[in-house]
Amino acid sequence: MAIRSLLKLAESKFNFTSPRFPLPCSARTISSSSVPSHLERVGFIGLGNMGSRMANNLIKAGYNVAVHDINLSVIKMFSDKGISVKGSPMEVAEISDVVITMLPSPTHVLEVYTGSNGLLNGGNPVRPWLFIDSSTIDPQTTRKLSSAVSNSALIEHKDSWNTPVMLDAPVSGGVSAAETGTLTFMIGGLEEAYKAAEPLFSSMGKNTIYCGSSGTGSAAKICNNLAMAVSMLGVSEAFVLGQSLGIKAATLTKIFNSSSARCWSSDTYNPVPGVMGGVPSSRNYDGGFASALMAKDLNLASASAKEIGLNCPLTSEAKHIFTKLCDDGLGKKDFSCVFRNFYNGKDEL
Ligand code: NAD
Repeated sequence: MAIRSLLKLAESKFNFTSPRFPLPCSARTISSSSVPSHLERVGFIGLGNMGSRMANNLIKAGYNVAVHDINLSVIKMFSDKGISVKGSPMEVAEISDVVITMLPSPTHVLEVYTGSNGLLNGGNPVRPWLFIDSSTIDPQTTRKLSSAVSNSALIEHKDSWNTPVMLDAPVSGGVSAAETGTLTFMIGGLEEAYKAAEPLFSSMGKNTIYCGSSGTGSAAKICNNLAMAVSMLGVSEAFVLGQSLGIKAATLTKIFNSSSARCWSSDTYNPVPGVMGGVPSSRNYDGGFASALMAKDLNLASASAKEIGLNCPLTSEAKHIFTKLCDDGLGKKDFSCVFRNFYNGKDEL
């Protein structure tokens, strides 16, 4: 069935406010009066691993959510729950006070904002006073979009907002934090807009850190992931050297975790199969943070460094290694598979 017919069917059959299709349990326990009127109608675009869970938490918190994705099976999941689904970003914008995007890369975000039937409605006035992009993208694209947003007009002024505004609000915490509503948001853009949107962030996350002007949230995120990539490489390289010199990674882990080498990659997300339970290395590197996303983020970091003429040798090397993992067909595996698949480290099962 064509996407439009499916969406029309879903829309006509399922009405968000219809009592025939109750919201998830917890949604019914929260009074919608706790939702501020300027944030009442939330559009959500990009319902993948992260976005579907974030949107679910907004629904549970009592927001009136409408969604869009190009993936029909995820759209069906939402329409089956009685959530309003729309056929294009523009249709989402037409009924929303705020629109949140959670998309793979800058190209997707540009397309959703400025493409045909995009959020910015081809330069015509728009309804949402606030656009929040939580995708991990480069600060340059964020700034470009933020000025396109503030150069747009509002169909109707909303509170003190005469023009729409955009916040960059990428997240840290991964799929499990998206599920439990414990993400960390790094926010760039107008501080007043951030303060006005705080209830939305606290429905999806437990920490919000305001970083400064537009693009600083995106910058913070790519810097975080660069440091995470390099520390994972450092720990993996050290474990492999240790194994080759006759010290088990399990022993080195104990030493690192009580010494100066301790870091998230050694004490929380250990890359060696058999050393720690509940992490991707304990389940053949499935789930977690895909190597392809890490390669993308390192590309963004590298392009940003190049643009400002900053020499970042570790960024280049890390980008090279994670790109190679993707070329070897491991793009979907968690990025900690670098231990086994790049360094040939040994499992300790
Ligand atoms: P994903 O690939 O699972 O989901 C992306 C969704 O966007 C998909 O459902 C896809 O169909 C949809 N999409 C793509 N193009 C679209 C378009 N033009 N219109 C509408 N929908 C479109 O990705 P994810 O893991 O949810 O990650 C999303 C973003 O969050 C990425 O930028 C990623 O780097 C970042 N991030 C991911 C994690 C993680 O652990 N997965 C953690 C932190 C940040």
